Amino acid sequence: MPTVWGQLRRTLIDVSTNAGSASSDLLVVGGGAIGLAIAWEAARNGRSVRICDPDPGHGASWVAAGMLAPINEAHFGEDDRLPVALAALNSWKSFAAEVTQATGQPIGLREEGSIVVAYDTDDRVATDRMRLFHASLGLTATELTIAECRKLEPWLSPDIAGGTLVEGDLSVNNRALVEALLRANELCGVEFDRRHVSAIQLDTTGARARGVIFDDGDHANADVVVLAAGTWSALVQGLPAQVVPPVHPRKGQILRLRATAEQPQPLTRSLIALVQGSNVYLVPRSNGELVIGATQEDRGFHTSVTAGGIWELLRDARLVIPAIGEMEIGEMAAGLRPATPDNAAIVGRTEIDGLLIATGHGRNGILFTPLTAQIINDLIEGRAPIAQA
Ligand SMILES: Cc1cc2nc3c(=O)[nH]c(=O)nc-3n(C[C@H](O)[C@H](O)[C@H](O)COP(=O)(O)OP(=O)(O)OC[C@H]3O[C@@H](n4cnc5c(N)ncnc54)[C@H](O)[C@@H]3O)c2cc1C
Repeated sequence: MPTVWGQLRRTLIDVSTNAGSASSDLLVVGGGAIGLAIAWEAARNGRSVRICDPDPGHGASWVAAGMLAPINEAHFGEDDRLPVALAALNSWKSFAAEVTQATGQPIGLREEGSIVVAYDTDDRVATDRMRLFHASLGLTATELTIAECRKLEPWLSPDIAGGTLVEGDLSVNNRALVEALLRANELCGVEFDRRHVSAIQLDTTGARARGVIFDDGDHANADVVVLAAGTWSALVQGLPAQVVPPVHPRKGQILRLRATAEQPQPLTRSLIALVQGSNVYLVPRSNGELVIGATQEDRGFHTSVTAGGIWELLRDARLVIPAIGEMEIGEMAAGLRPATPDNAAIVGRTEIDGLLIATGHGRNGILFTPLTAQIINDLIEGRAPIAQA
């Protein structure tokens, strides 16, 4: 069966001992942030690489907000995942620098940290409890009074109940990221095959991944195949039943507002708010865009944008930053996170020889992009693993 983060160590050990066979050409099925980063890393390692995806870069990775905030993602009962999440965060600065150096394209990495705000006193009880939990894990998050919050972010409503500063959090412009990764892959000679998904069938003849067979009879062979088709990973044709990953779509609706001459960008850092029990986040970009997200809905593969979903986001965001009411709406969109039953990503080797998998990153796929690329390439190359969960 595929491996989850919690079982990563065992998987990495398994693969290192068999890594001799995992060499030469690589085929990546799915060119979202995860697949693109895996492909680029392999190409930089001297591998010849092909990506099969009808529309690379335009799945969940295009819709996302680009928050890189593992501390706020550390929930009660999931603290065993924190070291991997922090390793993911730590890999970001050098990764961003390398992507920009390779392409000349900045990807909007921001290092101002994030501020967590409680709207009312009940919300404050919940955020205080979370801060104490984080402190018990050795994480640094600083309690802020209302005045301190507003000193850092003057557009915050005076009605908030308090906040927390998380200095290590980052954010990235995920659209600039996928555009730069597409370019980086092209510059390294990675080939793209944009045939429709219905034309793509995995070839696992003899219980070994051999590549992909297309509906016109073409065959793309590879020594190693990586399945990285996000929430569609379970639907790829030809996938043997025993390795179908337990991923399902978790819809997220999201808004992009634009600063105007009358209303400048109201935030300098990411804002995560708990508003009468519901979560909303606002991520500023230096180009004046403010990303507000996101709903979490289990509704199959539908990506409709609904009045109710957008209203809830605007309602909560406006309670904490009233000035957003004066900004222009740039875009309303919905994307599908690759969710798993236990919220853990599925990264590693499968029972099919030569078939690796990298999916199920849920709400944190942008955060995990560099680390996942590194781990998968460690598996391919038989190197000592970068991450030991
Ligand atoms: C609203 C929203 C907000 C989010 N915000 C954040 C955030 O702030 N921070 C964060 O870290 N994460 C965030 N995420 C999660 C993150 O976007 C995902 O976890 C991540 O993008 C998953 O990347 P991926 O490459 O696995 O999938 P995707 O980006 O979805 O890419 C999958 C690719 O597979 C292709 N494909 C599908 N079927 C096939 C097939 N049969 N053959 C070949 N190719 C195929 C698709 O065309 C697509 O390009 C957010 C997600 C959403 C929806």
